[in-house]
Amino acid sequence: MLQNPVEFFRELPKKICAECGQIIVEQAESYLMECDRCLSKRAE
Ligand SMILES: [Zn+2]
Repeated sequence: MLQNPVEFFRELPKKICAECGQIIVEQAESYLMECDRCLSKRAE
């Protein structure tokens, strides 16, 4: 069932947090460049 990693990433281009490098889960706020954790840290 596992796909070739290259094919996997080509089909599902994931965004990575610019701050910590964590993969960002697709959300309504898809324009965000950082994960929830980093966003919350930057809240203030
Ligand atoms: Zn992050």
